[in-house]
Formats: sequence, C-alpha cells, structure tokens
Amino acid sequence: MIIDGKKIAEELREELKKKIIELKATYKSVPGLTVILIGEDPASKIYVKNKQKYAKDIGINSEIIKYQESVDEKTVLDKISKLNNDKKISGILVQLPLPKQINKKKIIDAILPEKDVDGFHPVNVGNLSSGYEGKVPCTPLGCYLLLRKVEKDLKGKHAVIIGRSNLNGKPMAQLLLKENCTVTITHSKTKDLKNECKRADIIIAAVGQPKLVKGDWVKKGAVVIDVGINKTANGLEGDVDFEEVSKVAKAITPVPGGVGPMTIACLLSNTIECFKRANS
Ligand code: NAP
Repeated sequence: MIIDGKKIAEELREELKKKIIELKATYKSVPGLTVILIGEDPASKIYVKNKQKYAKDIGINSEIIKYQESVDEKTVLDKISKLNNDKKISGILVQLPLPKQINKKKIIDAILPEKDVDGFHPVNVGNLSSGYEGKVPCTPLGCYLLLRKVEKDLKGKHAVIIGRSNLNGKPMAQLLLKENCTVTITHSKTKDLKNECKRADIIIAAVGQPKLVKGDWVKKGAVVIDVGINKTANGLEGDVDFEEVSKVAKAITPVPGGVGPMTIACLLSNTIECFKRANS
C-alpha cells in the first residue's frame, strides 16, 4: 500500500479550512502567520512561497518578511520581539538555514513558545519529551499522522528511527514513545543499521541519503515512512529504495508526495492551535 501524503494533506487542509470559518464566526478574527525569510536560498524561497500559498488558501492571514543575506542578528531579533507582542500574529516561523552571522539558537529562543509554530523552542521540546501539551515540529507530526492512517494501534510496536536531528528524529521518537512504541534511534555511528532495521515494525528514515534503506533491510509487513528529500540526477529521491522496499513493506510513503505535503499542512494546523490557545 502506498500512503498518499498528497491526498491526506489535502483532506487535512479541508478540515482546517472549516475550522477557520468556525473560529472567524466565534472570534471575529482569523489566525495570522508570519514567516521570516533571510537570503536567497532557492529551496527556502520555494518552501516559504508554498507555506504562504496554502495558509492563504485556507483563510490564514499570512505575511512573509524578507531580509537580505547580510542582515544583522539584532535586526531579526528586534522584529521577532515586535511580532511576539503583536496580537494579530498567532504564529512565527524563521525559515532555516540561516546565514553564518545569525545564531540559530538565539533566534529559536527569541520566539515566544506560544507562537512557535515550528515547535523548535526548548519549552516546546521539553513539553513534548515530558508528555505535556505543546507544539510538535511539523514534519514528525506529519509522519505520525500518516502512520496513524495505516496503524491504528501503535502500542508495543518496535519503531526504528534513522536520524537523530532536532528537526526530525528526536521529536519523532518522543511522539512514538507517547504512543507506547518501543523506540530505537539510530544515527551515523550506529554499528549495524541493517540489522536494527530488520527488527522494526515501523521504520522512519530521516537521514538525507538517497536510497539508503534497501529491500532486504525491511521485515515483511513493516510500515516505512520516508522523510528524506534528496536531489539526485534522477530527480527527487527519498532515503528509502522505494522500488525494493515497496515489495516487502505493508505500507510505504513515496517521495515526492508522501511526508512533504504533510509538513505544510501540519504547520497550518499548529498555527490554528496557537490562535485557539491565545483566544481561550
Ligand atoms: P540532518 O540534520 O542532517 O540529520 C541527519 C541524521 O541522519 C543525523 O542524525 C545523522 O547522524 C544521520 N545519518 C547520516 N548518515 C547516516 C547513516 N549512514 N546511517 C544512519 N544515520 C545516518 O537531517 P534532517 O534535517 O533531519 O533531514 C533528514 C532528511 O529529511 C533530509 O533529506 C531532508 O531534506 C529531509 N527533510 C524532509 C522534510 C519533509 O518535509 N519531507 C522536512 C525536513 C527534512 P549523526 O547525528 O550521527 O550525524
């Protein structure tokens, strides 16, 4: 079974659109999302444009604030401070990566946790790992929602996560622990990745290496979620060898059209959650 992330994201956006109509009727206002884009990175520009497009489509007020590559840290921090105090803004996102002169940690820490739609602020990271309510990073949240479409009961399942980034691997592990999975986190120093994967009921690959996960790494009937987006001579490829793995897996996400569309849909969902909390 191929998990159609594009369709599932579309359905989620439709649900969110309805929620916004209800919120507008109740509060006479709609959520606002501000995205800060620094520099000219072509991939970042596309991501930001898409985020704004989908936000507008479902009725979120969205703005992009652009800075030149050479902007100084204080200018960005001052802007974040203003946005933190602006009641019309429910969510703030600073598109990564950042230029060298800007300290990523300082920027993430400056965003009010209540407006941190990316779920990167240490308060939100702490809430997730403590099992409390808070913002969950968009890509792992998207992976989780896709997984739930094919595995209703995750209790006791053995999940192997490849990659331990703050963006993907670590929050994914926390989400699955909360669902009572047994979680193994692997990384570049893991001794026998193939064998770790072979024991998994669920594999989440968030590495950045095209076709790393092969067919003979996967147990028959496992569910495989491919987070990787790798530009190769053959076009966009995931971290999983789709052709091989789709023959043994019970369900698998394609690249493109799997996790990618869910990331933006979850950003919109997080923005709405921020708005609701600010108004409750
Ligand atoms: P990252 O920060 O570079 O982290 C990669 C992780 O993979 C690290 O933990 C690294 O281990 C591990 N790793 C590298 N080589 C490995 C190997 N041979 N075996 C096992 N583990 C290995 O990357 P990221 O930001 O998490 O992104 C991962 C992928 O997801 C990229 O392709 C990215 O483009 C994609 N992505 C997709 C979306 C989406 O919406 N679909 C969103 C974000 C990212 P160490 O910690 O030991 O270095």
